[in-house]
Amino acid sequence: MKLKHGKKRRLKPAGIVLIVVLVLLLVAGAVFGAMTLLKRDTVPAGPVDTESSVSSEESSEPIPEPTSARLIGFGDDLIHVSIFRQAKARATDGGYDFSYAYEPVKNLVNLADIASINQETMMAKDREPSGYPLFNSPQELAYCLADMGFDLVNLANNHSLDQRASGLQSTLELWNSIDSVETTGAYLNEEDYSRIRSIEKNGITFGFIGMTELTNGLSLPKDTELILLQPQAEEKVKARIEEAREKFDVVVVNVHWGVEYTFKPTDFQRSFAQKLADWGADIILGHHPHVIQPVEWVERTDGSGKALVVYSLGNFISTQEMGPTMIGGALDVTVEKEYENNTISIKEARFIPLVTHYGYGKSDVRVYPLDEYTDELAAKHGIHQHISRFDIDYINETVSSVIDESFLTPYQ
Ligand SMILES: [Zn+2]
Repeated sequence: MKLKHGKKRRLKPAGIVLIVVLVLLLVAGAVFGAMTLLKRDTVPAGPVDTESSVSSEESSEPIPEPTSARLIGFGDDLIHVSIFRQAKARATDGGYDFSYAYEPVKNLVNLADIASINQETMMAKDREPSGYPLFNSPQELAYCLADMGFDLVNLANNHSLDQRASGLQSTLELWNSIDSVETTGAYLNEEDYSRIRSIEKNGITFGFIGMTELTNGLSLPKDTELILLQPQAEEKVKARIEEAREKFDVVVVNVHWGVEYTFKPTDFQRSFAQKLADWGADIILGHHPHVIQPVEWVERTDGSGKALVVYSLGNFISTQEMGPTMIGGALDVTVEKEYENNTISIKEARFIPLVTHYGYGKSDVRVYPLDEYTDELAAKHGIHQHISRFDIDYINETVSSVIDESFLTPYQ
């Protein structure tokens, strides 16, 4: 095609400058766009397994719709004497029936595709149940939690060795016999440890790691094969998280840490959360302080995304005697897998406050979602024997002084 006048148009210097500026703007736009994509939303939780993902270039199959899975993490299941005595009294078969204690939160547990809990007390077979300081809970408790719908049980905490190595072994054997539940944090031997526990829901794989900072001065004997993972073994933890990051879409870490009865995380909790995030943790479920601590996003140092951490979920159930120990929480996280761009991201995250209720003399211990707790019940709470004020306003004030408002949206 000929130019109209058979003559090339020459650009004036001003035109060249304009084109250079336009090209620079286009390049800048492309770079900015790519960064936004990498960091979009709440971000890629772990790396995506490209081998199992669907690529539009390799296949003419339509790209699947995004899928999601909901993980809800709960705090310390701390079975004090009155709780197992009441379970004993309620059982009709001479054993223990714990269902009354958890009944009001059963629906919440069932909303989760994966429900996780820190089982603070061990369940050694053929030993009498006991309370603080060396706990042992009846084995019926494990079946009750499994029946309620718990999928993942963390066994690494400062009471893991209350019944010594044999008690931990017996507890692991009990949980291993329950097919619907996976455990984390404690292992029978190296072979058992080599299998990072995972659960797949709606095409999304979650890998679980658990560990405890404290063991109440107890330690495993030198000749045992049992393994209890601790943050102090930093290289071991790092290698495990990196392995989980390679193998699974989402890496969930249960970590038992911090200082009891404090609302603020320690320097160690903060620095270790940063390390866990940098190594590849996506969701960090903290527990042990018996009271709640903040939920925060932790930016990975290399800028590749963020991890979500709750420093402490507080008590799930207990008969402790301070107001704040009656207030716990559940971290409710919805993860989405988007196949077109092969990304995993956290779409929603909220903190659901829970309240442990007991009557006079620690009777009728029961845990409620705060939404279902009432001033009427609070007025009858046995905690009034220890503190003067315990009502819905007090609970809300405590929760909102610790948990950022952005994580306190109602659940459904
Ligand atoms: Zn603890």
